[in-house]
Amino acid sequence: MALAFDEYGRPFIILREQESKTRLRGLDAQKANIAAGRAVARILKTSLGPKGMDKMLQSPDGEVIITNDGATILEQMDVDNQIAKLMVELSRSQDYEIGDGTTGVVVMAGALLEQAEKLLERGIHPLRVAEGYEMASRIAFEHLEKISQKYEFSADNIEPLVQTCMTTLSSKIVNRCKRTLAEIAVKAVLAVADLERKDVNLDLIKVEGKVGGKLEDTELIYGIMVDKDMSHPQMPKRIEDAKIAILTCPFEPPKPKTKHKVDIDSVEKFQTLRQQEVKYFDEMVQKCKDVGATLVICQWGFDDEANHLLMHRNLPAVRWVGGVELELIAIATGGRIVPRFQELTPEKLGKAGVVREKSFGTTKDRMLYIERCANSRAVTIFIRGGNKMMIEETKRSIHDALCVARNLIRNNSIVYGGGSAEISCSVAVEAAADRYPGVEQYAIRSFAQALDHVPLALAENSGLPPIDTLTAVKAQQIKENNPFCGIDCNDVGTTDMKEQNVFETLIGKQQQILLATQVVKMILKIDDVISPTDY
Ligand code: ADP
Repeated sequence: MALAFDEYGRPFIILREQESKTRLRGLDAQKANIAAGRAVARILKTSLGPKGMDKMLQSPDGEVIITNDGATILEQMDVDNQIAKLMVELSRSQDYEIGDGTTGVVVMAGALLEQAEKLLERGIHPLRVAEGYEMASRIAFEHLEKISQKYEFSADNIEPLVQTCMTTLSSKIVNRCKRTLAEIAVKAVLAVADLERKDVNLDLIKVEGKVGGKLEDTELIYGIMVDKDMSHPQMPKRIEDAKIAILTCPFEPPKPKTKHKVDIDSVEKFQTLRQQEVKYFDEMVQKCKDVGATLVICQWGFDDEANHLLMHRNLPAVRWVGGVELELIAIATGGRIVPRFQELTPEKLGKAGVVREKSFGTTKDRMLYIERCANSRAVTIFIRGGNKMMIEETKRSIHDALCVARNLIRNNSIVYGGGSAEISCSVAVEAAADRYPGVEQYAIRSFAQALDHVPLALAENSGLPPIDTLTAVKAQQIKENNPFCGIDCNDVGTTDMKEQNVFETLIGKQQQILLATQVVKMILKIDDVISPTDY
């Protein structure tokens, strides 16, 4: 630390820490930040679209993740640059708010940054660029609304929803089974949706997975599932109209709390003790039967003696069910968790339409399905797949599909995909630029060019010549006055995305534009970067 004086004689202190910081100012700061943001966008660009590539990431503890989901890729990447972190945040907000379009939003932000760099080099002030971008984003936002269409569906006609979810899934590894998965996602959302209030509580949809089987075996369970089985192999595997006693007390004779000694020195005494024990069990079983229980779910285990008796008395039971699961079962079936046999009453039993045990493969793996629960509309999507990575990626893809279906229920406007909406916005923004006399005009034009990067990336990823394809499609849009022309990634033979049934939700696309603009504006406004030097 040193004390110094300025030119007016005022003392000031120079801190050591200050010396160990590096600073970047003005244009250098902006350029460095733009480079960092673009670097992140470049990584994601190849993952965009139905022909996008997947990324393989390894976490520090050796776990391998294979994914195509922008938010997940960025989350797993260990970035320490602050601007790169902003891009990660950007993708996360899109994921949080909309759930889909997480790659697209980063690609768009990257393109906006690239264009901004050119403007800065031409000497345009960053604030003017930011203002121009803001105006352009508003034009694009409104234009999207204009080219959007209402997409009618109802609980009886779910096909439109399925089609939209299929677009989302078409860019993922699960592409092969997109129809099955899209149907499952839509049915799951409709099961928990309140169509009148346009409200969907996604928390009620549990997504579980188990390695084994095929992706096609993925199923929707109208209820919950527990990774447990019946305690005895001869107990019934299926119970209709189950009345469930949910117990936290063990099926065993009570243990005296104080130390005691029992001397058993004759066969008679042993027999009496045994009979006593059997009587205890018998009373417990009887108690459950008396209140009308047809299934017992127990937090604790019970020994073979009790198990055998339960089987004999025709009372199926499940043992060693964890506390969390027990609570879940209680909530879903409308039952109460009972801590003592004496407290069992008919009202405390949980009710479910059917409880069944299902076995998988040749292993001893069994699961308990509790379906048509009395109190809850909760559903479970049970994913099967060849390996853990596949299941994890399927979970993420299903999450996207669920979000898309939810968004459509909230707001049934859609825009067409394949870059068609971006091209149409680009044309509209470009046309609007002429109306602005100021320097912002340049920024607005650049914004229009940045919008083209999404279809360019889609074309490039599909092996098409990017610029040729884009210009052809753009010309077609203008010539036919058809804003639905996009990139024919899958080589279907038509560029009309309406015919191809490739849509995205309007709110998702609008959010992409808003978020990307916001983050780019934020980056442009930083003109001083102070960071600790690396030693
Ligand atoms: P994100 O994570 O942003 O959703 P995706 O990798 O899912 O990224 O790619 C979405 C993009 O791919 C969207 O622009 C969408 O319009 C486009 N897309 C999806 N399916 C098709 C298709 N069959 N043909 C053309 N474009 C498609």
